[in-house]
Amino acid sequence: MRLTVIGCSGSFPGPESPASSYLLQAEDEHDRTWSVVLDLGNGALGPLQAHVRLQDVDGVLLSHLHADHCLDLCGYYVALKYDPLGPRDGRIPVWGPKGTARRMAHAYDLHPSPGMSEEFDFRTLDDATHVDIGPLRILPRRVNHPVEAYGFRVEGPSTAEPGERRTLAYTGDTDSCAEVEELSQAADLLLSEAAFHEGRDTTRGIHLTGLRAGQLAAKADVKSLVLTHLPPWNDPALTVEEARGAFGGPIELAQPGAVHVL
Ligand SMILES: [Zn+2]
Ligand SMILES: [Zn+2]
Repeated sequence: MRLTVIGCSGSFPGPESPASSYLLQAEDEHDRTWSVVLDLGNGALGPLQAHVRLQDVDGVLLSHLHADHCLDLCGYYVALKYDPLGPRDGRIPVWGPKGTARRMAHAYDLHPSPGMSEEFDFRTLDDATHVDIGPLRILPRRVNHPVEAYGFRVEGPSTAEPGERRTLAYTGDTDSCAEVEELSQAADLLLSEAAFHEGRDTTRGIHLTGLRAGQLAAKADVKSLVLTHLPPWNDPALTVEEARGAFGGPIELAQPGAVHVL
C-alpha cells in the first residue's frame, strides 16, 4: 500500500499545494495495481495526473462535501466526458455523503439528471459499513465536523513487507471524537488533519489542533503520524511542536508529492 499526497493544504489551496487529496495504491495477488483517491479538493486534479491516468482510478471517496475536499470532481467529469479517445469502459465509483450526486451536478451547473451520473457511479457512505475496492478494505466512520463527514480506516496489502497487511487511518476533517479514535486504533500511519492552532482557534466541533492530533495518535497508539490540512496561514513548525507535546512517535508534515510506503 502506498499513499501519495496529492494535496494537503487546509481549507483552500496554498502557494505550494492543492487542497486535500490523497492517492492510495496497492497490488492484488495477480499484481494488478488498484488506485483509490481519498478526497479531491480544489487544484488536486492537476497533480493527480502525474501519478495515475484519470481513466485508471478504481474509486473515489469523498470524506465530505466542503469544497476543499470534493470540488475537483467537476474537472474530472469534463476529463472523462469529453476525452477524444472515447468513453472509459465503465463508470468510476464515487462514494460520498448523502446527496453527493446532486451537489456535484449543482456545482457544475448541470441538470441533476443525468448530472455526472454517466461518468461516475455515485454511492452513499454509511457509518461503519465497509467499502471494498480490490485488495483495499475501507471503513468509513462519521466524525465530528459541522456537516456529514467521514474519516477512513484503510486496510490493505503491505508494499514494504509483501505478505503482510497494513493499516492507514485518515481523519478527514474532524475535531476529537470516539469515532476518530476507533478508526485510528493501532494504525501503521495516521494521516491527521491539524487545521487549528492551540490558543488561536478556540471554536470546538470543527478541526483538530496539532496538540489534539498528537493526543489522538498517542491514545490510538499509532506507529507514525503525518499532519495535514494546514491552512496557508498556519505555522507548520508550531503545529509539529504542539503534536510533539502529546505523541512520542515519528511525526511528519504532509508534503505534496510525498509517497508513504506502508
Ligand atoms: Zn477541509
Ligand atoms: Zn470541512
